[in-house]
Amino acid sequence: MFSFAITARAGRARTGVFETPHGPVQTPLFMPVGTLGSVKGISPQELRDIGSQVVLGNTYHLLLRPGPERVRALGGLHGFAAYPGPWLTDSGGFQVMSLGHMRRISEEGVMFQSHINGDLIELTPEKSVATQEALGADVIMAFDECPPYPATREYLKESIERTLRWLERCLGAKTRPDQALFAIAQGGVDLELRRVSAEATVPFDTPGFAIGGLAVGEPKEGMYPAVGLSTRLLPEHKPRYLMGVGHPEDLVASVALGVDMFDCVYPTRTGRFGYALLPEGRLNLKLTRHLDDPSPIDPECDCYACRHFSRAYLAHLVRADEMLGLRMLSLHNLRYLHRLMEQARAAIREGRYGDFARDFARRRFGGEVPGWFRGALEEGGHW
Ligand SMILES: [Zn+2]
Repeated sequence: MFSFAITARAGRARTGVFETPHGPVQTPLFMPVGTLGSVKGISPQELRDIGSQVVLGNTYHLLLRPGPERVRALGGLHGFAAYPGPWLTDSGGFQVMSLGHMRRISEEGVMFQSHINGDLIELTPEKSVATQEALGADVIMAFDECPPYPATREYLKESIERTLRWLERCLGAKTRPDQALFAIAQGGVDLELRRVSAEATVPFDTPGFAIGGLAVGEPKEGMYPAVGLSTRLLPEHKPRYLMGVGHPEDLVASVALGVDMFDCVYPTRTGRFGYALLPEGRLNLKLTRHLDDPSPIDPECDCYACRHFSRAYLAHLVRADEMLGLRMLSLHNLRYLHRLMEQARAAIREGRYGDFARDFARRRFGGEVPGWFRGALEEGGHW
């Protein structure tokens, strides 16, 4: 039911097709985040129109409301949220750590207080899997412990071991054959612990593997060696998912190293703050100088906002806090990342990923390409 076929490679970058019960997914891809079962302000039809493939739902939020059994009774996320394509749910672990109050981690799981009404809730590997089975996503994630940055080596080691024991419990609790459970390798930016975690996780032979615990505040100089080592150690013939990463330059650098899947709230959140993503960086539409500009956000973009609206109109909407403006910026930003991944897939197929990534870097960074970016390209065989 889940297969992954690599159709072309360039250096360590690869493009392929991941089959799910709700259709094939072209990799590498960016997955929009629909925290509560909705990508804020964007309809399922709009997601389809801009080239979204997989949508991500957050187990922590959906567990608190509307509740997994209600979602199950109303057709799972596919039916309830009326997005018929593939879904992925996270395990809830990361958000319990970042949003839950008074959390307490034990071998059993995590006890926390709901940020909505203060209810005391326990999330365990078994409960995370049961919740994700009720939500019904195509890809579900193992319940893991994502240590903060910085974390002591001792803590990283303990959390790696606990994450492996929790993975075993997740697999034991899983009953639905139509869902793929991805294991998550941890280890922070400690390369030896990254190796320990990846080597111990690979034998579980899950249909895909995630790289967790990165993009949590560590410098890029620490993050990229960890990404590069992880993609060397995780199986070649399984999709690799770098969790919580969504800045354009991170997508380009990570694809160079063989990452296939990404998710992040960045494009929609930065859109709601009034920023539009451009090849040169972010455009701040709150600035008065855009109020008279008749040009589109990005003349190269084919999204509805760029085809119909001027910067002037969108800047006006943003200043007036009009819903349409914030919605259009989210739509454009998602389309920008989807287009970036479409271009990456084409470049890999045509064996010119290095040219693509260098062109990207010239526009994004100007004359000064940061060392971490160049390093990732070199390690991926593209520079
Ligand atoms: Zn656009």
